[in-house]
Amino acid sequence: MDAESNTDSAWKRKYGELVSESDRLGKEREATEKLLCRTIIRLTLAANGLDAALDPHLKKLRTLLKAGVKNDRLREQVDAVSEALLRAEDQSEEAEDNFDATALFGFLEYCAQNDIERAATKKLKEDHAKGQFSNLNALFLAASRLLADEVEADSKPGLLGRLFGRAKKNDKKDEEFSSSLKSKLLERLLDSLDVPVYLQHQLESLKQQAANVGGDSIFFKMLEDIISLLLQIKSKIQEEQQEIDDFLLGVTTRLEGLESGAEGIRCFIKESNSASEKLNKNVSHNVSDLKSVSSAATTLDGLKDSVTSRLDAMTAQLEEHFKSDKLRAEKAEAEIKEMSSTIKAMEAESASLKDSIKLKHDMAFSDSLTGLPNRLAYDERIASEFARWGRFKESVALLVWDIDYFKEINDRFGHQAGDVALRAIAKVLASDLRETDFVARYGGEEFVMLMPGASKEEALTKANELREKIKNCGFNSKGKPINITASCGLTQFVEGDTTEKAFSRADKAMYQAKNSGRDQCVFG
Ligand code: GH3
Ligand code: MG
Ligand code: MG
Repeated sequence: MDAESNTDSAWKRKYGELVSESDRLGKEREATEKLLCRTIIRLTLAANGLDAALDPHLKKLRTLLKAGVKNDRLREQVDAVSEALLRAEDQSEEAEDNFDATALFGFLEYCAQNDIERAATKKLKEDHAKGQFSNLNALFLAASRLLADEVEADSKPGLLGRLFGRAKKNDKKDEEFSSSLKSKLLERLLDSLDVPVYLQHQLESLKQQAANVGGDSIFFKMLEDIISLLLQIKSKIQEEQQEIDDFLLGVTTRLEGLESGAEGIRCFIKESNSASEKLNKNVSHNVSDLKSVSSAATTLDGLKDSVTSRLDAMTAQLEEHFKSDKLRAEKAEAEIKEMSSTIKAMEAESASLKDSIKLKHDMAFSDSLTGLPNRLAYDERIASEFARWGRFKESVALLVWDIDYFKEINDRFGHQAGDVALRAIAKVLASDLRETDFVARYGGEEFVMLMPGASKEEALTKANELREKIKNCGFNSKGKPINITASCGLTQFVEGDTTEKAFSRADKAMYQAKNSGRDQCVFG
């Protein structure tokens, strides 16, 4: 009797242990599923903002995941994300083809001097708009044909002929294509270039050379330098595009890996559920079998044997079940571990890509010499101030500054001293401004300011204060005081204005200040 009750309690204890193990595994499975959902949701948040076409798909994926991994629509959505990623790659290739040829056409229009050349330029522009040039090379080839002597009017040389001074001896008009016109063309071309900050020094030095372009050989050399600058910009853009393409490709591959990981977890859950069902069936079958054996038993020994053998069979089944369940759980756990490390790597990569994009954005909007916002930043700011002014009509003052006789400062004290002076002037202009005021280096030794809310009188007072500060900034070279002054033109937005009209008014006013003796501020 004692032996019998010992076996009974041992079996009960074992059964109890196995049941609680089963509970624990069930909970672990649930936690695993939740972790999987959470990690994928975090991944979609990390990837948010990288591509506008991808964002809505990621959002949908997040919403679906909130309902758990069993959701049937999940697979469809993962497919949609993969497709959107592939489309994003195609579009980036298209974007490369959509080269902005405005500067090129602006240059050609500027050079065209007769109706035939103007018509040829117009046709080239139309052909480009119709997409007749399969790539940039084809466009530049057509442009270079136009620039060469192929377009002729009254047997005069073409654009390039005049540009390079291959004038006919008796053609007075062509001879007038003097070095000063070459300089103007080069300056205009250089002004139209949108050069990133790290290449600004090259642009500045080209601008200075352009001011003194003499013979043809210097002119040709400068064109070569400008082309090399453009190629540098192009290769940098391609490099950055490649970086983004590689990242997106990495995301696609890893998303596929995550998808198969999720599939593995789904299988584990399914297998585990059907194994539990099978176990339940076996246990109830064994219990009812045990009941019928017990009632049919005629001897105690016989009963003991059949009960023990059935209990042993049940215990073996339970052990087998939990062993394989444990194996499945271990496999799923390893899968999750790998998935979460993939996600962590993706998060780190996307964070560093975001940082580098932000850094490039900040660099693109600031001037490397003075640290002030640059012309690009000014273009953006004036557009937003102008839009605000359109809504609220609160006065906005626009100021254009130009340093007086700056060429002379460079000539007398050297270019480096000129740079130091520019930094000092930038510091003065940026000092003491209200939080809503804005100052940028517009280019060379010109600065531009926006003062929202300032009346004409307030803006004039402030401008004169700054002008005095520049004059008294105590700038010197090797201990010798250098007299620096600046002229300023001011205006305010008026009805019927555009940002360009307002700028040109302020610029004209600045030239009036120059013509009236410099070191003064004029409202225009
Ligand atoms: P004005 O009073 O009429 O303005 O005379 P100016 O000598 O200042 O005339 P202009 O505006 O034509 O010359 C500007 C000079 O500024 C030409 C160029 O050498 C110089 N400059 C432009 N950018 C830089 C720069 O980044 N560093 C230095 N050192 N000089 C620059
Ligand atoms: Mg100037
Ligand atoms: Mg000047």
